[in-house]
Amino acid sequence: MIVAIPREIAPDERRVAIVPQAVKALEGAGLEVVVESGAGESAGFSDEDYRQAGARIESDPVALLGSADLVLKVQAPMAVDGGHEVDRLRSGAVLVGFLKPLDLPDVARRLAERGVTAFSMELMPRITRAQSMDALSAMSTIAGYRAVLLAAATLPKIFPMLVTAAGTISPARVLVIGAGVAGLQAIATARRLGAVVEAYDTRPAVKEQVESLGAKFVELDLEIGDAEDKGGYARAQSEEFYQKQREQLGKRVANSDVVVTTALVPGQRAPILIDEAAVKAMKSGSVIVDLAAEQGGNCECTTPGTSVVHGVTIIGATNLPSDIPANASQMYAKNLTTFVSHLVKEGKLELDLEDEITSGAMLTHEGKITNEAARSRVEGEGS
Ligand code: NAD
Repeated sequence: MIVAIPREIAPDERRVAIVPQAVKALEGAGLEVVVESGAGESAGFSDEDYRQAGARIESDPVALLGSADLVLKVQAPMAVDGGHEVDRLRSGAVLVGFLKPLDLPDVARRLAERGVTAFSMELMPRITRAQSMDALSAMSTIAGYRAVLLAAATLPKIFPMLVTAAGTISPARVLVIGAGVAGLQAIATARRLGAVVEAYDTRPAVKEQVESLGAKFVELDLEIGDAEDKGGYARAQSEEFYQKQREQLGKRVANSDVVVTTALVPGQRAPILIDEAAVKAMKSGSVIVDLAAEQGGNCECTTPGTSVVHGVTIIGATNLPSDIPANASQMYAKNLTTFVSHLVKEGKLELDLEDEITSGAMLTHEGKITNEAARSRVEGEGS
């Protein structure tokens, strides 16, 4: 079986699906690894690095995809040279990547029509057995770290407290809203830089984790009910709840130099937790990094990219893992190789459709969209 690693063509995508270090693991599963020339360049890996690791280099992307039994990508396939990357895949081939199953119904439809068996890393079940294949968590770790570095570089202040002959500098105040994987990494990074950090999450289980990182857990007077689903994700709350949350968080937002928001509810628009009035109440020069920007943003004023609203810099972050492409690719490659070892036995694809990981991550198979939520999106588009 040939496994192909194409160069990512999405604008500003610097990651690569497989790093040279991970080539051996694929070979160990009995696969022949072919990498598109230049695929690892923006992540710091040369063709020579891949060659030395045992991969073959192919310079023609059409030939690469046309010969592959298995294709490992970062981003979903997209339009290219008047056609579409999906049309370069062989019918019956397997594709694995971040396929945005709920956001890109057209890609899911194309993959099914093409007869590709596609696995979307966003659909990976969050069970202990699949932890090393959980690419969303891996990328959130990088994003949380990067969010704080961006904020620190943008804020007109430093993070730590300094007592110097030139006077005392008070530490920056950082508020993290949503203390999941990205939020906890943001807290840890801000603490390492010396900021005073507080955090809030609707899942009460998080309190202990926040405190263990040296941050204060913000208690709000809200009726949360059953905050967590069986997958460990937050449940959606009512609009009335979010209204109260905005009111109660407003004062803390106003007192913060930096706010990092990461609050997401799977399959839904991100809840608005900071309205324009709260932005207006912040000190000029303050920074908001909105990691929920791709899902609509946790701040009412967020737009993709960087904007300044009422003197506050709002960074609508859409792909922070791509800013740290070496480690993001290294972690993603580990997730992928573990998943591939799960699907391939002695060089042969063995799809066990009864298996929770295989069926859970599957998006399309044998001409059909197998994931129910993605299928409803496609049917919704068509009606
Ligand atoms: P996520 O990216 O979907 O959401 C980020 C955070 O936002 C979550 O902590 C969520 O509770 C929070 N949030 C949602 N609405 C909010 C609101 N109104 N106000 C404040 N916060 C809000 O989730 P994630 O970070 O990817 O994962 C969440 C948790 O799932 C993890 O912390 C972990 O406990 C669990 N998890 C388990 C596994 C596993 O293998 N068992 C794998 C990954 C994650």
